Amino acid sequence: MVKEIVQHGHCHSCGRAVKYGEITCSDACKTVWDKKKRSQRMVFWMMIAALILLIGLPLLRGIMGGA
Ligand SMILES: [Zn+2]
Repeated sequence: MVKEIVQHGHCHSCGRAVKYGEITCSDACKTVWDKKKRSQRMVFWMMIAALILLIGLPLLRGIMGGA
């Protein structure tokens, strides 16, 4: 009685089972997921910027002050 071993994934937005390779189950979920992904990317870049500031500023100050 095992007929659901077909490869499948889960909707990244609501968790419903979707076809393998699909990210979301519907257009509504796709919109939600796109928004989430965009904000995640924003957080990522903000962290990069913070890292650059954290590492770059003291370095820059060292260069400016040193020479
Ligand atoms: Zn969904």
